[in-house]
Amino acid sequence: MIVIHVLTLAQELGVHRNTIRNWVKTGRISAKPGPGKGLQFTRDDFARLCREFHLAPELLKPMARNREEVDIPALATPAASLSSGPGQRRLKEGAMKTFFNLIQEVQNPGLCHHCGGCVTFCTAINYGALETGEDGKPRYKDIEKCIECGLCYSICPEISELDEETKRQVAWSAPMGRILGTTVSRAMDPEVRLRATDGGVVTGLLLHLFDLGRIDGAVVTRQVGPFQRQPWLATKREEILEAAGFHFDTSHGPSLFSEAYSTFSPSIVELEDVARQRLNRVAFVGTPCQINSLRRMEALGIVPSGTIKFHLGLFCTGNFHFGPEQRLKLEQIGSFQWDQVRKVNVKEDLLIHLNDGQVRHIPLDRLNFMKRYACHYCDDYAAEFADLSFGGIGAPEGWTMVIMRSPLGRAIMADANGVDLEAFNYRDNPRLAAQALEKVLEWSNKKKHRAREKHRELEISVQVKG
Ligand SMILES: Cc1cc2nc3c(=O)[nH]c(=O)nc-3n(C[C@H](O)[C@H](O)[C@H](O)COP(=O)(O)OP(=O)(O)OC[C@H]3O[C@@H](n4cnc5c(N)ncnc54)[C@H](O)[C@@H]3O)c2cc1C
Ligand code: SF4
Ligand code: SF4
Repeated sequence: MIVIHVLTLAQELGVHRNTIRNWVKTGRISAKPGPGKGLQFTRDDFARLCREFHLAPELLKPMARNREEVDIPALATPAASLSSGPGQRRLKEGAMKTFFNLIQEVQNPGLCHHCGGCVTFCTAINYGALETGEDGKPRYKDIEKCIECGLCYSICPEISELDEETKRQVAWSAPMGRILGTTVSRAMDPEVRLRATDGGVVTGLLLHLFDLGRIDGAVVTRQVGPFQRQPWLATKREEILEAAGFHFDTSHGPSLFSEAYSTFSPSIVELEDVARQRLNRVAFVGTPCQINSLRRMEALGIVPSGTIKFHLGLFCTGNFHFGPEQRLKLEQIGSFQWDQVRKVNVKEDLLIHLNDGQVRHIPLDRLNFMKRYACHYCDDYAAEFADLSFGGIGAPEGWTMVIMRSPLGRAIMADANGVDLEAFNYRDNPRLAAQALEKVLEWSNKKKHRAREKHRELEISVQVKG
């Protein structure tokens, strides 16, 4: 008898635990419940499970409780003769890969950064075989609805299949994407500046495009807790304004402190709303990984990615968890208390702005304990696939550094300049934009170097385990 824990089998198959239990009840999986939260398989049933779900028996080996008894049966059916079922094609040489492969290649090693691209497009285009779990991870909602089109696999930014095409599409060049120009700017409206993270250029530009009727809305994020943000399709001027900033906000009350927070916002899921509301001209604000996913969707011509007319990328060193443990540790590192904090920002350091005007600088390399796992493997700092990339690094306090990457991005910056945006007075420092770009390059190189190291470590650990 082979015993496998329901949860581990569910994770391997990318479905909910209850789905596994239902499959056992309805006979789709032949196994006996128990002991505890396990399932008992005869050797034949186990072989059938592996065949039907196209699981390599070796993968299940570490899951089985009574390992010494497990003489894993060989996969009896030759892959080529399998008739149907998710994951089947991955077994055939050169065949289309599916969500099964995303689980194996991206989720299991911890590389999924929850961008939501696979779920969103599965829902928008096909029959909704996938869903996002409570932990933010994509999983099978109904495996029967998977038509094995391979879309989810192709658009995942962790999969290199579309790398070359995506790079060609945006005329990407080394070392950190296409650069047509740089500027250090800020919004002219003091209200925007007051709410903004840095100089309010992102919000100022969105308002400019909206007021001129060039966009019907913008995918942004709104603050729903001290650190937490939610994706939001803003279709009104005041909604765009409300979304400004990336700051600490205690107005939601200390009760929220019991929750674990992450600064990540899965903005791509808002594309479902874009499609539902039939908007045609939308601006998208997001992290480099999200812009990357969007470009892949465009490369594949997937609707509604074509309605995203402006890709506004934020520089990104990583997203962070601000759970109770992490907050406590940060207080100790930075010698402050959260009830003294007015604003949090990320530039070269994590900047903790206190109510009395003091600013605590915490070096980013001391924040690894709270960085999202997948972010350690990411190599895009400067939103290399965007029309415009924005960050605070290299810019004086209250200003935003902007990299113009496409002629469209350059044109809208020129259009907004002097109307809703103002450029830094370079007479004060003629080299400011160049210096800021040097800083971005330095951080971009650092991030690429670290990502390469982490990938190498991962490869080694997989080889060792294998
Ligand atoms: C997770 C994260 C990490 C960052 N890391 C760095 C860094 O290391 N170095 C650096 O120089 N800059 C970094 N930035 C960018 C910086 O914080 C500012 O967003 C940028 O300088 C633009 O400032 P602004 O005042 O012009 O934008 P604003 O006018 O304040 O507009 C900011 C826009 O970003 C949106 N937004 C806020 N948070 C998120 C989020 N989590 N996901 C998607 N959209 C969001 C808001 O809805 C708003 O539309 C980071 C941003 C984020 C979200
Ligand atoms: S597309 Fe995004 S959410 Fe889906 S597996 Fe890849 S990284 Fe994760
Ligand atoms: S570091 Fe930023 S861009 Fe990279 S995966 Fe994390 S959130 Fe996405």
